[in-house]
Amino acid sequence: INTARLDRFISDYHQINRKKVRLILAQKRVYVDGVLATDIAQLVDQFSHVIMDDEVLQANRAYYIMLNKPIGVVCATKDKIHKTVIDLLAGQFDQDILDSLHIVGRLDLNTSGLVLLTNDSRWSERLTSPENKVSKCYQVTLQNALTPDYINAFAKGMFFSYENITTKPAILQIVSLFEAKVILTEGRYHQIKRMFGRFRNPVIALHRYSIGSLHLDESLKYGESRVLNISEVSSIN
Ligand code: URA
Repeated sequence: INTARLDRFISDYHQINRKKVRLILAQKRVYVDGVLATDIAQLVDQFSHVIMDDEVLQANRAYYIMLNKPIGVVCATKDKIHKTVIDLLAGQFDQDILDSLHIVGRLDLNTSGLVLLTNDSRWSERLTSPENKVSKCYQVTLQNALTPDYINAFAKGMFFSYENITTKPAILQIVSLFEAKVILTEGRYHQIKRMFGRFRNPVIALHRYSIGSLHLDESLKYGESRVLNISEVSSIN
């Protein structure tokens, strides 16, 4: 992410030397996020709202969106065959905003539920960085009946020879004979399907309903989205 000192930012923006920038700051002509800026070393980034002499130097807004992904829609920005999650947002947001978004943790084509999109990569890194072990919760419907030994197998982890890794402890709760809740803190390729595959138990339906503190808004129908509110955005830190 592009973080810069305020004096350098203004100097680059207006092609004026930093000595002059210091003078401009001393003349109280600059505001950052609505606050008078006096510190030349103050850090600004692509989302800072910098105003100099009533001119906005930078006004990139941060967007945080939750989407209820239907099955059959691909978590990509472009696709030749399938509709993408970005296609679902078209009409609600300008093209330049759509172009700036990235997906925070993908779901498979035939998985439904919570997908987050943002243009704030510092925010999304907090959700996706492995050290943070953010919980992702899924509702799973299975073809065959569950037994209690699944619980231990998910908790112990499973060795995936292709990646040469053992899955992190996962929580499996049996909801009914053919339904479970699974909580993962990582996201390996087709992880849940492969874990149930060890029991030769095909996953019939898979739906993500939360990521960390963010829960899929139950009023969102498949394909619908909304922007996150302030408390949702700031719950990720
Ligand atoms: N596990 C899967 O198999 N697919 C997903 O989309 C998410 C988790």
